[in-house]
Amino acid sequence: MIIAVDGPTASGKGTIAKALAAHFALPHLDTGLLYRAVGRQVALDGGNPDDPADALAGCEFADELLAEPALRSEETGGFASRVSIHPAVRQALYQRQRAFATQPGGAVLDGRDIGTVIAPDADVKLFITASVHERARRRWMEMQDRELEIPLVEIERDIVMRDERDISRKDAPLRAAPDALVIDTTSLGREQAIEAAIAAVQEALGPAS
Ligand code: C5P
Repeated sequence: MIIAVDGPTASGKGTIAKALAAHFALPHLDTGLLYRAVGRQVALDGGNPDDPADALAGCEFADELLAEPALRSEETGGFASRVSIHPAVRQALYQRQRAFATQPGGAVLDGRDIGTVIAPDADVKLFITASVHERARRRWMEMQDRELEIPLVEIERDIVMRDERDISRKDAPLRAAPDALVIDTTSLGREQAIEAAIAAVQEALGPAS
């Protein structure tokens, strides 16, 4: 069984994908991490994330990079969003994601284009969304926990910019697959969002699940 979970940044898709993987005992891949690793590698190489050749060179990152805490930073997120525009980068990361999706027994993948490009054949497709303000508030709370003082307006501005880049790129733009179930988590707490997603998957799979 393949479960595709897509949505914009800080929508709750990562939390939901992880919970679905645990609930249905499936392996999980956070595909954003791959783009973050490319962005980070470009930064480490002193390259320009907007340059297609520099961005493609970043795809040669070592797997250990995936475990680096710096991958989670806002700065790396911005770099990831810039390298992810280039079709050659998306192509270079395609096979790894496709192989994960099609492994025996199935998998849960979260990202921006899982239901549309990586696994259009997924058994269940969820598109997780929430208002920009709520997503910025969640990011801000996360940062407060990590004792990072970044003004809410600045986070909101960054989210709007990243959304714009993800939605307007030509190759694999962020959008819900026509057959995706949309879950708006704006007014849902963490547990409620997870419950809604589990219920949506169970409903999509039918009564035997
Ligand atoms: O999900 P996360 O915020 O970690 O993703 C970082 C960036 O990687 C996104 O802003 C997006 O531009 C890119 N990405 C993508 N396709 C995916 C996953 C992430 O383009 N499947």
